[in-house]
Amino acid sequence: MVRAGREFLHTPGPTPIPDRVLNAMHRQALDLSDPRLEEISYSCMADLKEVFRTRAHVFLYACNGHGGWEAALANICAPGDTVLVPETGQFSNGWARLARHLDLEPVVVPGDWRHAIDPQSVEDSLRKDADHRIKAVLAVQTDTATGITSDIAAIREAMDAARHPALLAVDTIASLGTTPFDMDGWGVDVAIAASQKALMCPPGLAFVAANERALLTARDTPRARSYWDWDMRLDGEFYQNFAGTAPEHHIFALREALNMIAEQGLDAVFRRHERLARATHRAVEAWSEGGALSFNAVIADERARSVTTILCDEGRALRTHARERLGVALGGGLGKLEGKAFRIGHMGDVNEPMILGCLSTVELAMTEIGIPHGSGVRAAIDALAQDRAVAQGEDRDHAEPVPQD
Ligand SMILES: *Cc1c(COP(=O)(O)O)cnc(C)c1O
Repeated sequence: MVRAGREFLHTPGPTPIPDRVLNAMHRQALDLSDPRLEEISYSCMADLKEVFRTRAHVFLYACNGHGGWEAALANICAPGDTVLVPETGQFSNGWARLARHLDLEPVVVPGDWRHAIDPQSVEDSLRKDADHRIKAVLAVQTDTATGITSDIAAIREAMDAARHPALLAVDTIASLGTTPFDMDGWGVDVAIAASQKALMCPPGLAFVAANERALLTARDTPRARSYWDWDMRLDGEFYQNFAGTAPEHHIFALREALNMIAEQGLDAVFRRHERLARATHRAVEAWSEGGALSFNAVIADERARSVTTILCDEGRALRTHARERLGVALGGGLGKLEGKAFRIGHMGDVNEPMILGCLSTVELAMTEIGIPHGSGVRAAIDALAQDRAVAQGEDRDHAEPVPQD
C-alpha cells in the first residue's frame, strides 16, 4: 500500500483518465430534450468517424467492449450463421465464445498467441467455404493478452483474393488511437472500440462503426435484438439514438477526450504511442539479458504500441509486489498465459515521465524480489532521448506545449 503520491495505472484498460476528462463529468445532467445534449452527442459521433477514418455511421452504446462485440454480431448475424475467427489470443477467443452464446457457429483459425494473424490461413479457410456460409470474419487488431497487432489491410486482401462476400468486423478496442486504423481505406465493414483504453474515458461506453454494407446486411438479418438494433437507433429521433436515456456523463467525458485528441493531432498521438512502446520494448530487451523473462511477441514488428506482454514465470509475484508495495498496477497473464506473464499498458493519456516511472518501478520490483535482469531503464531512457531528438520540430506535442486549462 502506498500512502503518498499518485498510484500509477499501467493496465491495458482501464487506463489513466485525464483530469480534464474527469472534470468534464462534474456537472448536472441535462434535460433529455435540451438541444445541447443532442449537439454534444452528435459532435462525438462525428469526431469518432475521424478517429476510425470512416464515413460509416458510429453508434454509441452504454456498455463495455463485450457489449460492442454483441452489438456488432446481433446486427449482422442470425442464430445458425457461421463466423470465421482467426485466433489471436484471449480476446479473439472471447469474441468467439460470445458468438457461440448467440447461437452462431464460430470457426476458429488456430493461432499460437505469439504471432499476428496469418492472412494466408484466412484466405485458405474462406476458399474452403465454397457455398459462402461464413457471414463475417471477426478480427482483433491488437490482442491485449498477447501484445500483438495484426495487419488488417492484409486480411481484407486475403478475403478479396478468396472472392468471399463475408463482412469484415474488427475489434479495435486496444488499438484505436494508438496505431493507425483506416476503416474505409482498408475495407472494414464493422469496427468496435471502447471508451476505457486509448480513448482515455471511464469504462462504460462502446463505439460501433457500421458501413452501408453492414447496415444493409442488418436490415436483411432476422431481428432478435432491440437495444442493439441499428435501424431503430437510426430512426432519427434523438432519444432512439441510445435506445433510451443517453449516458450523459460518459458523453461529456468523451467530448473532452476527443477535444484532447484533436488538440494533439491524431498523428502526433500515434507517434507518442510509438515512442512509449519503443522505450518499453528496449527496456524488456535489456531486462531479458538476465534470462528470467522474454517478449511474448516473437516478431518485433508485430509488437503492439498499446501493451507489452512479457513472459515471466514470476509474473504474478512481480505484479502483486508492484501493486501492493509500490503503487503501480500492471496487467497479468490472461488465458493460457495466466501465471506465466505480466503486461505493461502504455496507451491513452501516458507520457514519458509516466512510462519511466512505470519501467523504473518494474525494475525496482524485480530487484526486490530477486528476478535477474539487465538495465532496462537505462535502455528506455536512451531510446526516448533518441526519439525525442527526432520528434523535435515534428510534433506539436513538443514544439509548443499545449496550454492547460
Ligand atoms: C479490453 C478489451 C476487450 C473487452 O472490453 P471490455 O470493456 O472489458 O468488455 C475486448 N477486446 C480487446 C482487444 C480488449 O483490449
